[in-house]
Amino acid sequence: MEQLASRVRPGLQRIEPYVPGLTDDELMRRFGLERVIKLNANENALGPSPLALQAIQAELPRLHHYPDGGSEELREAIAAFHHVGTDQVFVGNGSDDIIKLISETFLNPADEIVVPVPSFSQYAFGAAVMQAQVRGVPLGPEFAYDIEALATAVNQRTKLVYVCSPNNPTGTILRQEDAERLLHQLPENVIVVFDFAYNDFTECPDRVVESEALLCDPRVVVLHTFSKLYGLAGLRVGYALGDPELWSFVHRVREPFNVNRMAQRAAAAALADEAHRRASIRHVAMSRNLFAAWARRHGLQAPPTEANFILLRTGDGVETMNRLMTHGVMVRAGFSGLPEWVRVTFGTEEENEACLRALEAVLHLA
Ligand SMILES: *Cc1c(COP(=O)(O)O)cnc(C)c1O
Repeated sequence: MEQLASRVRPGLQRIEPYVPGLTDDELMRRFGLERVIKLNANENALGPSPLALQAIQAELPRLHHYPDGGSEELREAIAAFHHVGTDQVFVGNGSDDIIKLISETFLNPADEIVVPVPSFSQYAFGAAVMQAQVRGVPLGPEFAYDIEALATAVNQRTKLVYVCSPNNPTGTILRQEDAERLLHQLPENVIVVFDFAYNDFTECPDRVVESEALLCDPRVVVLHTFSKLYGLAGLRVGYALGDPELWSFVHRVREPFNVNRMAQRAAAAALADEAHRRASIRHVAMSRNLFAAWARRHGLQAPPTEANFILLRTGDGVETMNRLMTHGVMVRAGFSGLPEWVRVTFGTEEENEACLRALEAVLHLA
């Protein structure tokens, strides 16, 4: 075993395998529960788009055939949706896949990436796989983006800068004017990846708008996913918009059939499901008000969220998470640098109420 470890690529020893939250099946088994309320992975409380389900049904008899390796029809649908060229669209097996492929395309061992802290762990993972260095830049007061600090962290070795808005796990947004200021301050040869996994949940006037100017800046990559708003996390499909030349290189490290048949069909159908998208956005806005008002009423700190989840300061985050589990409610805690917080994904109306009652019980709130 010692010998095997010495033959593994250097740097891999430092990578901690991703530990997802318990699945609902595991929790039910552990506590002998009949059902659980799963609010730990920012999934869509309304479920998948019904049009996506129909598309999957229709595709089943053709599962013996390989998918379209270039995801042509899906890329065309995405291009039309965002008013960009099809060659600006890249599709992946979830946006996790795209983050890894971008890392593999650009990062050498001495290179650096700049990431906000706390934020989504996959950015640092992509760098770690390539043995590149991660420069973490703490968010400012109330988890707001600190543009000066991000710009200052960039040096000769920086290849990629990530910004996540609304940010996971804080829910806070990068404001449009700050995005412009950041791009203005960064050199021409640094790629800026905007992760907009939750940007379509917000209708806040300050949010980053995906204008033509943004999408046609050759330094800019914009990430989207079908896992959250569209309710298709289990299918694994995400996409990115960026410069066609950039994609011509990323394609070289992509697996030939990285997005499966059902994912391609379901994603295209979900994109056309205006009713499901509207209902999802509306439901999240309502849940946000409910949780924010509850937190205020009980004097719990909660940064202003524009996503489909909220970060709550409960004292000992992991302790709160574990106690909620005994009530059949799954939330997420243990984010680095946030030992006192839990992140709660919004559920259905009924799940939200059950979660708040469980929180009141475990936190002994009147
Ligand atoms: C959930 C999430 C994603 C989506 O990942 P998929 O691989 O598409 O499921 C991307 N970025 C952030 C910040 C997320 O929270």
